[in-house]
Amino acid sequence: MASTPSTENRYTLLTASRLLDGQGNPAIEDAAVLIHEGRMELIGSRSEVRAPDGAEVTVVDYGDASILPGMVDAHTHLVSPGDGTPSDVIGQESDDILLMQAIKNARTILHSGVTSIRENGAKNHVTFSLREGIDRGLAVGPKMTLCGRPVTITGGHMWYFGGEADGTEGVRKQVRQLIKEGADYIKIVATGGSTITSNPLLPSYSVAELRVATDEAHRFGKLTAAHCASAQGVQNCLDAEVDMIVHCVFEDSEGRYEYRPDLVDRLLEADAWVNPTLYVVQAGIERLSERVESAGEDTPVMQEALDQRRRGLDNRMEACGKMMEAGVKMTAGSDSPWGDYAPGEFVNEVLMLAGAGLSTPEALTSGMSGAADSIGMGNISGRLVTGRSADILVVGGNPSRDLKALWDVIDVYQDGVRVERGVI
Ligand SMILES: [Zn+2]
Repeated sequence: MASTPSTENRYTLLTASRLLDGQGNPAIEDAAVLIHEGRMELIGSRSEVRAPDGAEVTVVDYGDASILPGMVDAHTHLVSPGDGTPSDVIGQESDDILLMQAIKNARTILHSGVTSIRENGAKNHVTFSLREGIDRGLAVGPKMTLCGRPVTITGGHMWYFGGEADGTEGVRKQVRQLIKEGADYIKIVATGGSTITSNPLLPSYSVAELRVATDEAHRFGKLTAAHCASAQGVQNCLDAEVDMIVHCVFEDSEGRYEYRPDLVDRLLEADAWVNPTLYVVQAGIERLSERVESAGEDTPVMQEALDQRRRGLDNRMEACGKMMEAGVKMTAGSDSPWGDYAPGEFVNEVLMLAGAGLSTPEALTSGMSGAADSIGMGNISGRLVTGRSADILVVGGNPSRDLKALWDVIDVYQDGVRVERGVI
């Protein structure tokens, strides 16, 4: 064995006041994790976890801190800066610039304690190139599951990312093309959105087109997720057996909100995931509110826009609370750095889910094993389990009591290696 003697006898032992496994089990007090060749070999209380006799062990004691799995963000847009730049503008940037933006975001996200993500749509080949670069050690970032480009109608939401496809045959070809390029799942745009040439209140694809997208994806063993900014889109996607409904806004074609128990029953029947993306709305409200304030008193149009957004968010929070109560599976996916939602602030979405009705431990789990399960990464991410890659987050305090402890990142480990974050 000429190639491994440098690591085979080396172990890392992490210890801390508590360990939370990311799937809701009671905390292990006075805990330890033994890492060997990038994997978690033993997990338990400090008195139980020992390296083999004669091993070379690096011990890192974190004191009054919590050891957790790295967080999992089920929804990112790595080509976006998260500074309020409209997506229509981002879509006109060159692939070269967008790749650099994505490299920057991937690092920021990893450093914030998120070690796995699902990327929900970028331009052309950019995220495939990013993943290739990370695999080659040219950049750093979380593990990622990719859709490449969102599949959208001509002129539909996010058309500028290069995934336009019309008609059943057009959609089928686009899905096959994406899988050929390396897509792990298929993102479908089922209604309009913030894109200027689209209308969020109207469905884009027909059920027949959506059905082809899901059939074709499922044939290749790939999951599907669909952007649904209004109720008819949700209904169409349920007809087409989409696996995850993103945004899940219950507004009709006139923009009137009405909670839809019929659609909620169908979500439950289908065992579909919902990714409500709440903080991206809140971030937009906060920025607009600052602008209204700095503009002074004579701003009735802006004030009305702000009030409308606040009502929209209130409705979405209420709908989420009811869906949670009904037992719909909710996943934590930030949608950042889209719009005004800065990268590296996934915790804000976890806090919003708690605000909508999840208990603190439930919200914590939703950003770990829950998110991982929802994106098909449940067998590699979101849980501290022996034998798995050591993707670990260490934070000060106890996030199962106070989610804000997740902001206090002490260290992040990726495949057993401490991530150099350039901070103490
Ligand atoms: Zn999105």
